[in-house]
Amino acid sequence: MTFETLGLPESLTRAVADAGYDAPTDVQTAAIPPALAGSDLMVAAATGSGKTASFILPALQRVLLARADPSKRRDKGTVYGPRILVLTPTRELAIQIAKAAVTYGRHVPGLRVATVVGGVPYPAQLKALRGPLDILISTPGRLLDHLQTGKAVLDHVEMLVLDEADRMLDMGFIDDITTIADHLPKARQTVMYSATFIGHVARLAQNMLRDPKRVEVASHTDTHANIEQRLHWADHFAHKNALLDHILTQREVEQALVFTSTQIDADRLADRLAELGHAVASLHGGMPQGRRNRVLQGLRSRQLRILVATDVAARGIDVPTISHVINYGLPMKPEDYVHRIGRTGRAGRDGLAVTLAERNDAGMIRRIQQFTTQQIPVATIAGLEPTGPQPRLFPQRPGSGPAPAGRGPRHDSRRPHEHRAHPHRGHEQRPQGAGHDEPRRNPFDRPLPNRDERRAPAARPGPAAFKGRPKPQRSRPGGYAR
Ligand code: AMP
Repeated sequence: MTFETLGLPESLTRAVADAGYDAPTDVQTAAIPPALAGSDLMVAAATGSGKTASFILPALQRVLLARADPSKRRDKGTVYGPRILVLTPTRELAIQIAKAAVTYGRHVPGLRVATVVGGVPYPAQLKALRGPLDILISTPGRLLDHLQTGKAVLDHVEMLVLDEADRMLDMGFIDDITTIADHLPKARQTVMYSATFIGHVARLAQNMLRDPKRVEVASHTDTHANIEQRLHWADHFAHKNALLDHILTQREVEQALVFTSTQIDADRLADRLAELGHAVASLHGGMPQGRRNRVLQGLRSRQLRILVATDVAARGIDVPTISHVINYGLPMKPEDYVHRIGRTGRAGRDGLAVTLAERNDAGMIRRIQQFTTQQIPVATIAGLEPTGPQPRLFPQRPGSGPAPAGRGPRHDSRRPHEHRAHPHRGHEQRPQGAGHDEPRRNPFDRPLPNRDERRAPAARPGPAAFKGRPKPQRSRPGGYAR
């Protein structure tokens, strides 16, 4: 399969060739032809699958067609707003998508791409919204602000992309998205990307899409064959730090992304690692956007070897040289585990995802394994083995996935350098059973609810279910606390 056979015009196939892509990825092969034909789409695709190009290339095709259509000519001085609107959960992802649009649209004459995201000053955004605009990439909260002040015109949107819809709903954007959609022309194309299409995401899809085609390429139950996963049990906090320090000093760590559960942990850990002499910085939603951009730039330019980040801030990071993802603090939700590990093993490389867990993390480990339907193989490091028994992971419900992790880590008395079965994995021991032979669960496998069910409470709490409950680490766009 080639990009030409997908039906893309020469100016776009030339751009992907310039980007060094030889052939379309699976999601591009599956999603681009129906998207070019104008269909609404529900796409279940994992991070790192090439999904951005799968919607940006058809979007650029629309821009090219509009350029050639005299009936869509735009008068100077009139504000038309964008032809394509992409809604995405985080600033980082928005910036990433904008970069991709510029890369793939480099041969589209006079292409105008803008981002409107929280946490950055308004004036430049207002100027972009008033000027000629083809593609607008936005986080829902800030776009809604501009809509409510009448500064954003969305009357000529031909295509709406909802990227990472599950995450946007989890972040409480449901009302913002539906209000924004109410301001768009009814006769538009809508494509929706999500890790899963169950529960409240399915309901949103039912309300927003017309006769959608379903594309499933990679789901949360995928085995991530190029990402090796390992679980290290730690006796206590100091043991966990010792495991982390050991891993980070391995020469095989090209760049590491270390996840913490909270902003304060990210800052504290980055300070501690800096004191140890690492080239390290933290990244979280409590930092001003300018600083976040500089940190990401430092990671890309390899001035930084280690980034300590929280979930929201790390979403959208696409740096192929990240060789290791380390879960130092566990995610709040199993879905985040999948997004985290997807930050390594990008662009065809191998990656290693290491989870450091204490006894009280056993519940979340079990939930992650249920969600992915895979075991995370347990590993130990010679000289740093846990002394206590391995926590018991409660058995899963029959039929819901694989058996729980084995009884105990494999201990091996060989010296560290004798364990180098994999050249870039240092002297950590090979983990036990990979558990990669489980059947995949279909992300669309639950039927869309009927109207009565829609009124009933969702099986998994939707955004509304969080109302009234304290949300200590989470707030509206522009001020994510995670
Ligand atoms: P995404 O899933 O959109 O975040 O893309 C993940 C990575 O794959 C990015 O670094 C893209 O530049 C890269 N990529 C996208 N499409 C292709 C392709 N057809 N061939 C090779 N790399 C690609």
